[in-house]
Amino acid sequence: MYDTLIVGGGPAGLSAALHLAWHDRKVLVVDRRTGPLFFTIEELFNVPGMPEVKGIELQRRLRAQAEEMGAEVQIADIQRAEGEAGDFALHAADGTSWRGKTLLLATGVARYHPTVDGDYRPCFKYAGKGNLYYCPDCEAPFLTGKSTVVIATGSARGGAGMALGLSRYTDDLRLLVTTSDAELDESIAERLEDKSIAVIRGAIKELVGATGNLEAIVLEDGNRLEAEAFFVSSPALGRTDLAQQLGVEMAATDHHAQPRSQRGDTNVPGVWIAGDLRPMTQQVAVAMGTGNIAAVMIDQYLRKQDVK
Ligand SMILES: Cc1cc2nc3c(=O)[nH]c(=O)nc-3n(C[C@H](O)[C@H](O)[C@H](O)COP(=O)(O)OP(=O)(O)OC[C@H]3O[C@@H](n4cnc5c(N)ncnc54)[C@H](O)[C@@H]3O)c2cc1C
Repeated sequence: MYDTLIVGGGPAGLSAALHLAWHDRKVLVVDRRTGPLFFTIEELFNVPGMPEVKGIELQRRLRAQAEEMGAEVQIADIQRAEGEAGDFALHAADGTSWRGKTLLLATGVARYHPTVDGDYRPCFKYAGKGNLYYCPDCEAPFLTGKSTVVIATGSARGGAGMALGLSRYTDDLRLLVTTSDAELDESIAERLEDKSIAVIRGAIKELVGATGNLEAIVLEDGNRLEAEAFFVSSPALGRTDLAQQLGVEMAATDHHAQPRSQRGDTNVPGVWIAGDLRPMTQQVAVAMGTGNIAAVMIDQYLRKQDVK
């Protein structure tokens, strides 16, 4: 019986594990290694205390520190979660199960990449390792003064909102709407026009450029959009339904779980959430912070149970 089971070994889960292990809690992190730091993000510039850190190096350091403190880390894909405060169970795809008194979900969110001739994988050449960006809070400063195409992979409205927000960094913006959700309210269309942001509609046929340096997008109608930078407006997607399985209330966005307070506790006693799974911005430092606060609260909760 663990004091705390943590699903998700990204910055949120591993930061939480570090605090709990430091307080001598028996803590297990289960992770299936699909977070963005493993494969996608080459270099990060906004992690406090770690300038220009490589994504995989950050993962390695976080895990090593948590393990040195005494946390256990297992690689597995959790498919089922059940139980109640004092006795939760996690069941992995390979049949292994673990039990714990408390549970922290730090499973992150996935993003939609634009599809290129129906396939999203061509984006891997540029996402997180070049000039194809996804996260305004993390990456918008890279656009300063650059000709930029915003690619809407969800609604045109979402893409327009992103393009307007990015106009603080560059006044050379175009909006490419790749989906059928292509309508724009008159008021938004006017605001785009005011900022000289042209709206182009069409499906992507080809990405042109060497790894890390996307030079142009070729559309199915032959239109070629050249730019120095490309920004994806992408709805997030839940990585797992473990929160729903446990009865955790979901946020309006339905792929984020809803915390009951800033501490990351939920409507289900004994279950906490942290990192990108919370409906906040998606950032490593925020993931670490929300993982840490959840761990502090879990430790205090366990202490109260011990006193009882
Ligand atoms: C292209 C890109 C660029 C980014 N650039 C930056 C940047 O420059 N600066 C910055 O601060 N942030 C950046 N981010 C955001 C940052 O990566 C995230 O905010 C951060 O990784 C969130 O941490 P997390 O621990 O909440 O989730 P994640 O890092 O997503 O980790 C969650 C982990 O949970 C695991 N998991 C999920 N479900 C299960 C399950 N059922 N069983 C087992 N394991 C499971 C996943 O495999 C994953 O390893 C970027 C993101 C992307 C996609």
